[in-house]
Amino acid sequence: MKLIDGKILSAEIFAEIKAEIDQLNGQRPGVTFIRVGEDPASVYYVNAKEKRAAEVGIKSQLKVFPETVTQDELFAVIDALNADNSVHGILVQAPLPPHLDERATFNRVSPDKDVDGFHSANLGRLVQEDPEGFVACTPAGVVEMIKRMGIQTEGKHVVVLGRSLIVGKPAGLLFMRKDAFANSTVTVCHSRTTDLPSITRQADILIAAIGRAHFVTEDMVKPGAVVIDVGINRVDAPERKQGYKIVGDVHFDTVAPKCQAITPVPGGVGLMTVAMLMANTLKAFKQANP
Ligand code: NDP
Repeated sequence: MKLIDGKILSAEIFAEIKAEIDQLNGQRPGVTFIRVGEDPASVYYVNAKEKRAAEVGIKSQLKVFPETVTQDELFAVIDALNADNSVHGILVQAPLPPHLDERATFNRVSPDKDVDGFHSANLGRLVQEDPEGFVACTPAGVVEMIKRMGIQTEGKHVVVLGRSLIVGKPAGLLFMRKDAFANSTVTVCHSRTTDLPSITRQADILIAAIGRAHFVTEDMVKPGAVVIDVGINRVDAPERKQGYKIVGDVHFDTVAPKCQAITPVPGGVGLMTVAMLMANTLKAFKQANP
């Protein structure tokens, strides 16, 4: 079994991005993060993204709004950022409070600055296989991992667990592309799928993105499969100082021995998500400064 180490792979990408930015004669790509409220996970994720941006030479700014911010106030901020030439990327951290329309908010961001890849224009470009578009960072990170590990995807059966806009759906579309690093036969499963294990057992590459701790067990995986665990789940761990630990959607200890390769959690896909965000920001900068 080979461990797909997100730490090593993302470090390679961060170094490549930094090297490219160092060649820009002092110009720097800029990204703005918008956070609404104080959800601890959102605070953590945005902080991590800011830290990485600084490390690779991307200018970042953070705009924080109270939970009570109105849709029109949020739109006005996004409109101003869309018009600001020093801002190349805009990321609205999800989830938003229920009174805000997430889809309308994502669609308010200029598609050219949509480094999260959630704008309908970029989702359309993904379907059209247009390389100019921005692809959601987590599924893009999954593909990048597989590419850098030299794992064959052509003709393979990729089974994706989850159909969210953020992970499952774009992951399915990416592996379906007519491309040497895709060309897979894709099955996307969700909560209404019947007899899920019979489908996951057919997977050459299994991508778990459902948000259920240790859901994928050893009996659900074909020997020799590649398993990519996107899940980030908090479970009680009284033995830990903070009282919890983070685990994936895959029961790593029992599944790993059966696999050709597998990602750990933490230390897997999460780091690649941040790496692809930096890559998208650099891409947005380059498209704005051809
Ligand atoms: P969502 O809750 O938006 O989607 C979950 C998907 O899983 C849905 O399509 C749902 O089906 C499906 N699902 C839920 N339960 C089951 C089940 N028992 N059997 C089959 N399918 C099921 O989650 P996200 O896609 O946003 O995130 C998924 C996981 O990935 C989470 O743990 C999240 O924290 C993590 N994540 C990790 C990232 C990273 O950087 N590593 C980035 C983003 C997310 P249905 O559509 O029918 O409801």
